[in-house]
Amino acid sequence: MGEGEGVNLTCHITGEPRPVVDWDVPQVGPDPPIVIKKSESDITLQITNVSSSYNLRNITCRAENEAGMGEAVAQLNVTFPAVIRELGQAVKHYQWCIPFSVDGNPTPSIRWRIGNSELRETSDVYTRLFTEWVRTSTIVHGCLYLNTPTHFSNGNYTLLVANALGTASCTTYQHFMDIPDEHFREEEPFHGTKDTNDTEGGPVETTEEHPVGISVAVVLAVCACIFLSVMLVILNKCGRRSKFSIKRSVVLAQEDDLAMSLQFMDVGGSPHSSADSKLEALKSSFVENPQYFCNTAVRHIKRRDILLKWELGEGAFGKVFLAECHNLTPTQEKMLVAVKTLKEATENARLDFQREAELLTVLQHEHIVKFYGVCTDGEPLIMLFEYMKHGDLNRFLRSHGPDAKILDNGNGPSFGQLNLSEMLQIATQIASGMVYLASQHFVHRDLATRNCLVGHSLVVKIGDFGMSRDIYSTDYYRVGGRTMLPIRWMPPESILYRKFTTESDIWSFGVVLWEIFTYGKQPWYQLSNTEAIECITQGRELERPRTCPSEVYDIMQSCWQREPQQRQNMKDIHSRLQALVKAPPVYLAILS
Ligand code: AMP
Repeated sequence: MGEGEGVNLTCHITGEPRPVVDWDVPQVGPDPPIVIKKSESDITLQITNVSSSYNLRNITCRAENEAGMGEAVAQLNVTFPAVIRELGQAVKHYQWCIPFSVDGNPTPSIRWRIGNSELRETSDVYTRLFTEWVRTSTIVHGCLYLNTPTHFSNGNYTLLVANALGTASCTTYQHFMDIPDEHFREEEPFHGTKDTNDTEGGPVETTEEHPVGISVAVVLAVCACIFLSVMLVILNKCGRRSKFSIKRSVVLAQEDDLAMSLQFMDVGGSPHSSADSKLEALKSSFVENPQYFCNTAVRHIKRRDILLKWELGEGAFGKVFLAECHNLTPTQEKMLVAVKTLKEATENARLDFQREAELLTVLQHEHIVKFYGVCTDGEPLIMLFEYMKHGDLNRFLRSHGPDAKILDNGNGPSFGQLNLSEMLQIATQIASGMVYLASQHFVHRDLATRNCLVGHSLVVKIGDFGMSRDIYSTDYYRVGGRTMLPIRWMPPESILYRKFTTESDIWSFGVVLWEIFTYGKQPWYQLSNTEAIECITQGRELERPRTCPSEVYDIMQSCWQREPQQRQNMKDIHSRLQALVKAPPVYLAILS
């Protein structure tokens, strides 16, 4: 039926004694055009002006007497023309996304034009609809993803939607980056489009020749090739593994042997014991966190209150989405949240999920990412967190370091290269979160910048309690085929005896400081996992980063005392950092 038409739904009732009957109609507006008529054996619902908001909602007829209750459910299929609900400004989160929401029944088809040209989608520029979500309305959210837009990609983006009942279009101007050099201006139209103007006589983009620009480009390309070849030769010679070029399975497969021998060595078992029983032995030697959060009342949020917007990233447990959540707080009708989904709801995964939800409900601090609750009515299981708009700290550091221009196409960051005072602010906030965790006798075990999140105005919070092992897989070392260990952040006693304590978290905090002052480098990046294990257990320390004042390196070293009890406690570290924020060391100290 079309929008605006009328419909009568009749429910036939029988029962002894005579049941009480009523219609349960979803609230779709302040003054719904609804009339309910009752007779001896029927109850009829008249809707005079059906609205598309009835789509996908249940209209229920309920009858009840002392012998029991019965109900019948009806769903309307209200057709209406394609519309665009939202077409936003591009946002960057790994890739660029031009967010949009479209509506219509039947579901509309989607096309794009850039300027006057039809967009030909490629693996670099493509539309993605988030339809895997359990839908509570006909609205579909999506993104036009652009992997590496340049200044050629700047321009008017027109979204065109159509279904059998109508069409709609909307245009937005998107600016991805400034023109880097005068000579490169107007060289090429955007590579993802095919010109549709040939027959229409509209403005046609022209390609002018710029000999200087082209020669600069050629020289740059040659330099880049030479640089890459030299790097490859060096890497090969040194036998080091690049973080980005070697797949996790390759690295781990070669080093599993050592992992197993480490296990045998640590627990002193005989080499004839099975690997699994060794693993169990190791597991039981872990110092577990107290289970004081068991049976904590975790808040449950209804799925219909969550509207998915687009993907933010992926962790070991599943995808992370940006979403709009309604009725979360009494003061705001809707707010942005980050939603973590659980991809495989196996029994073990569900238990981990429940455990993490209970833990997160208890842990509340201004430098621990805010946890709102879970949604378990249907699949996938999800957790809701406050949205931290700059994403994880490791990526943030890398895109605000000396290479920021290259990584961000010169356009992403709202801050420039981080300065000493900002680095100290970041460190102090993480220290504050860690002081809180220590006060709760909670051992994190995986403190690293990849597990911290950055919000507006450089607010930093500890944001993950063991869920990021997929995207940063090279930061972890697989032991015995299953357990993944962040060995580069671990002190000798954790590597050798799997002992995780508040003091081992302090060691990791020292490594986090090192990450901050190297703009997100991987600790011991020049070494393989086995070499890193050797260095750490033999007492070698990470070197002082070039931009790190000696006052800060002193703090790092106080975290890296071999004897856990000799490490400075988190409270004192926090106070030292606070003092440095108030009176940052002079510039000369950075150069020395
Ligand atoms: P995780 O599953 O926690 O490892 O998250 C995977 C990725 O999703 C992270 O690296 C972040 O970039 C992103 N992410 C996770 N939580 C949030 C959040 N609360 N706000 C913004 N982005 C997030």
